[in-house]
Amino acid sequence: MSGGVHGRVLLLNGRTWEPLSVISIPRAINLLLAEKAVVIEQTGEFLRTVGDRYPVPSVIALRAYINVPRRKAHWSRRGVLVRDSFTCIYCNVQPGGYIKGKMLTKTDFTVDHIIPKSRGGKDVWTNTACACYHCNHRKGDRLPHEAGMKLSWEPKTPRTSYLVIAIGSGPEAWKRYIEY
Ligand SMILES: [Zn+2]
Repeated sequence: MSGGVHGRVLLLNGRTWEPLSVISIPRAINLLLAEKAVVIEQTGEFLRTVGDRYPVPSVIALRAYINVPRRKAHWSRRGVLVRDSFTCIYCNVQPGGYIKGKMLTKTDFTVDHIIPKSRGGKDVWTNTACACYHCNHRKGDRLPHEAGMKLSWEPKTPRTSYLVIAIGSGPEAWKRYIEY
């Protein structure tokens, strides 16, 4: 088995399927065996025990809804870029797109302060967004309307924990369960 037991499982709340935590595979299997959780997604791998094999989950959900205080998502530059899927809020370009004949990579994207820091703008989710270097440079120390630029969306504070982002990007199968 390739790395399965050492992998991680996304644990969702009951009913809402809101991400709660990232747990180890043994802990996930314990929750399943105790009938406290159900499998939502499997990895396709199997955990072999004596005379038995157990499908390794990738995403599980608690059977019951538990009341957890909403954790405030901690602001980070990486968090902003991931929240915005490395899409420029001004021109919508993404990695793989072109500006002036040059193909962009993730390193060509930065965190733009809508209200510039030099003018009192804060490092908060609602004042920051992903921008390509080109737009970031063009905007400079101006407000978007002063630079004749428009936001393609309104930057929002993520509703759920940024746990998954904090530990790096999770498996593809997790993505649809991680709401912002
Ligand atoms: Zn741009």
